[in-house]
Amino acid sequence: MSVVDRLFPEPLPSVADLKARFPNRALADDAMVTRVGPSPTGFMHIGTLYTGRICAQFARRTGGVSILRIEDTDKKREVDGAVGFIIDAFDQFDVAFDEGADRNKTDRGAYGPYRQSHRGDIYQAFVRSLVEQGLAYPCFSTGDELNAMREQQKASSIRTGYYGKWALWRDRPEADVVAALDAGIPFVIRFRAPGNHETKLTFTDLIAGERDLPENDVDTVILKSDGLPTYHMAHVVDDHLMGVTHVIRGDEWFSSVPTHLQLFDALGFDRPHFAHIAPIMKMDGTSRRKLSKRKDPEATVGYFEELGYPSEAVMDYLLTLMDPEFETWRADNPDAASWDFELTMKGLQSSSGPLFDFDKLGSISRDVIAGLSSDAVYTRLLGWATTHDADLAGLMTSEKDKVTDILSIERGGPNARKDFAMWSGIKPDLAYFFDDRFDLSRETAQQMLDYLTPDELGRLVQEFLDSYDPSDDSATWFGKLKELGGKHGFALRPKDYKKNPDDYKGAVSDVAKIFRVLLTGRERSPDLYSVMQVMGPDQVARRCALVF
Ligand code: GLU
Repeated sequence: MSVVDRLFPEPLPSVADLKARFPNRALADDAMVTRVGPSPTGFMHIGTLYTGRICAQFARRTGGVSILRIEDTDKKREVDGAVGFIIDAFDQFDVAFDEGADRNKTDRGAYGPYRQSHRGDIYQAFVRSLVEQGLAYPCFSTGDELNAMREQQKASSIRTGYYGKWALWRDRPEADVVAALDAGIPFVIRFRAPGNHETKLTFTDLIAGERDLPENDVDTVILKSDGLPTYHMAHVVDDHLMGVTHVIRGDEWFSSVPTHLQLFDALGFDRPHFAHIAPIMKMDGTSRRKLSKRKDPEATVGYFEELGYPSEAVMDYLLTLMDPEFETWRADNPDAASWDFELTMKGLQSSSGPLFDFDKLGSISRDVIAGLSSDAVYTRLLGWATTHDADLAGLMTSEKDKVTDILSIERGGPNARKDFAMWSGIKPDLAYFFDDRFDLSRETAQQMLDYLTPDELGRLVQEFLDSYDPSDDSATWFGKLKELGGKHGFALRPKDYKKNPDDYKGAVSDVAKIFRVLLTGRERSPDLYSVMQVMGPDQVARRCALVF
């Protein structure tokens, strides 16, 4: 048996068969084929959603194809159910891919499988062809040997890595390989790097622009001892076979580009375009840093869902981070689908390393919720509550009509209420409408209304109730409040009143505050007239009775 057959004992497809199985895509010249390649580690970084959306946005706009590829060659990091978790997260944020991994272990598209662990024979076939051409070789160095080598390199202050004279198995006689195979020593396959570290190559990235990078001389591992490829090999083979035109990925891969270009060339594949995206950053004290999975809850996609930011608000916010032009576009096209926005590489270039800003997200989110009908708010809030707040879901179901009425307050039109930024923040605004969830003591009310004596307060409230007619329209209701303010100005604003008793306009806001406090327990509330309408005369009277 030849050495190559011993390295690859299982039957493998031929490279020619593979080329036939993955034919060129028949697409227009400017159509972009893009892919996002999350690893199923059980954690979905906001950057994965960000990159996925960028990939899908370009593909849609250019009539191309977007692909969701599961990069699960690192079995040690894999977590059960993590693929479903990734698919759900993209779904939740309405990022759909044309091809790729789907639920129930099915795939969509003709260029699959779309899970790298199901493509083992494909990678092996290409690795085998590299070995046959002398462009790759087996390496039997053990972990201990490699560590010792690294220590020695460090001690001598030289660049660490498996290159040049340190590449111990690069030119070993075949007899050594046979002996190692006979001894059953595990091996990896390394790429025979053709580069010279002293020489620079010029590479043009669609975002980072033209850059000079040192050529790669490290004999990178391309096939691990478990028979699965490393990222470097897998991405090159997949991106070629899947017809990917634009490799859009995080810029942590930028320094590996020289290796990747060598692999594309060695395999005889056309090089795709590369676009390396700057990561989302945050301020930490006075310095900027990448969002960190360990330190920042906002690094996780699930965090936004838990807090209940509407998914389209998160997406609009991410689009503002991707491309500074998005905000102007959104202001001009408030109702358009964000998929219609023409994202550009130039935009991505100018957004470099955008800072995450919760205030901005909150303001976008408030606008989004303000634009929803009360039925939509009800449905979406209930959807969120069903997963995250059973008590709220129960209240919403048992008191559906009243909750819908509450949610209708100040909804619709240009002055729609903008105080809701996330579903998790709404409950307190519903709760005070229900007697069993409302708890205001006379003392607290009196403290909040300390500009009135208890007597004055009682008199004012009584007078209001005497004239209150729930069938009044909002203007009549307001007129009555105003009249009351005028009449009691002395009590409400003694200084203002004394200054100019004849011209005193009436402290309507002070009168309103009395009822706002008694009805809601707060100094701020949505439109008080609507609050009273939703509560109805009995509940209004019950709450006012606190002061008698
Ligand atoms: N699996 C890689 C990662 O999670 C994907 C990189 C790529 O998009 O090529 O970083």
